[in-house]
Amino acid sequence: MQDHRTDRKPAHVTETELQVQRQAMAEVRALEDRPRTFCIVTYGCQMNAHDSETLAGMFREMGMSEAPDRESADFVLFNTCCVRDNAERKALGNVTWLKEVRKRNPALRIGVCGCMIQEPGMAERILKQYSFVDLAFGTANLYRMPELFLRMLQTGSRVVEVADENTIAEDLPVQRLRRDAAYITIMYGCNNFCSYCIVPYVRGRERSREMDDILREAEGLMRDGVKEIMLLGQNVNSYGLGLEGGASFPALLRRLDAMGVERLRFMTSHPKDLSDDLIDAMAGSKHILPQFHLPVQSGSDEVLRAMNRRYTRAEYLGRVRALRGAIPDIGLTTDIIVGHPGETEAQFLDTLSLVEEVGYDSAFTFIYSPRVGTRAAAMPGQIAPEVATERIQRLIAVQERRQRERLRRFIGMEESVLAEGLSRRSDAAVSGKGGHGISITFPGSAEDVGEIVRVRVTGVKNNTLTGERV
Ligand code: SF4
Repeated sequence: MQDHRTDRKPAHVTETELQVQRQAMAEVRALEDRPRTFCIVTYGCQMNAHDSETLAGMFREMGMSEAPDRESADFVLFNTCCVRDNAERKALGNVTWLKEVRKRNPALRIGVCGCMIQEPGMAERILKQYSFVDLAFGTANLYRMPELFLRMLQTGSRVVEVADENTIAEDLPVQRLRRDAAYITIMYGCNNFCSYCIVPYVRGRERSREMDDILREAEGLMRDGVKEIMLLGQNVNSYGLGLEGGASFPALLRRLDAMGVERLRFMTSHPKDLSDDLIDAMAGSKHILPQFHLPVQSGSDEVLRAMNRRYTRAEYLGRVRALRGAIPDIGLTTDIIVGHPGETEAQFLDTLSLVEEVGYDSAFTFIYSPRVGTRAAAMPGQIAPEVATERIQRLIAVQERRQRERLRRFIGMEESVLAEGLSRRSDAAVSGKGGHGISITFPGSAEDVGEIVRVRVTGVKNNTLTGERV
């Protein structure tokens, strides 16, 4: 696999190339015989979810509307993830299932895009084994979707094209999923090469958007009435690499805070890049929400070294103390992997003790999933699935108990909740996230959705909070 490490200034997609895409969108719109509806099936993280918003924006510009479901769409696009093996198998399984739908609807066209397509050999595999896929492209040439889509329609043949460009495309149309909250991607790719992770290989090296472009996008969202902005990147803490003029993540946060974005969140951070300046920027801000997602991955120094995480358990705990010292009651969440190659029982117990010690408000726990081409996939000491399964069950039990204990500190506290939707359990209740990033359910109706509601926390239920309106 190609090593993308560099801190060169990132290249931007040229205006001429963007003009080609605008022209392609207009040409698709003018075609008599073209797909009228689309459906995007998204797997994976928020970065992918936001990519799907951009793809939807481009389909709209091509005169297409969103179908209610994939069975009734004229064009179905799978935006895939390859971070874990099961996400990849699920995506390929669903693509194959759609082949059956096409027997009933021969006009249906099928596309596949996203991280999976960037994997070495995947484009060839799509061409050979998935002959019913009409269009495939990766993350690096996502902005060229209109041109590729037009070519597919005009030639009537399959278009499979993967690039390795690592550029930044500005000003693409976006159709947001929500009116009240929005994503802004501030940087792409990752330079960290954690042993188990395929992201640097499929998303390329780190490249940061110009700060002025981000601020301009945030201004537009505020004008549209967006109340909450989530800044996205694989490692937002190292935002600014390769940019001139002192661009850094704390500097960006301070500028956005000064602009008055009502609620500001970000994801994801790498503990080694969590600086005191970032903590100061958060502590001194009016609008950055008091929450932090700080993936630890393991509590064992040996495993952290094998993972190439470049921090120790003690350093990680030091960062947690610094965060909690500056922002009392900060909502703290994490990611943990069990069963990394070579992980011993004693090393796993270090992870359990760290989870006890920190007391996370929530944790995403995963069994290590080997990804071809990563260093960990070739390491000796692969852990048997039954051992990893037993470990994750013990981890989840500890985390859930600690989570319930920790969440009780919010009882009696008032939170501003951005109501996201009706509760799954009752039409007379709504759910949303409070400032600390924890889901809170409280009495309400569909009219509250999209509004910020003041709520007093009254209890802990199923690892989330319940509350009453103030
Ligand atoms: S920092 Fe995150 S995205 Fe980057 S290599 Fe490590 S796990 Fe993957």
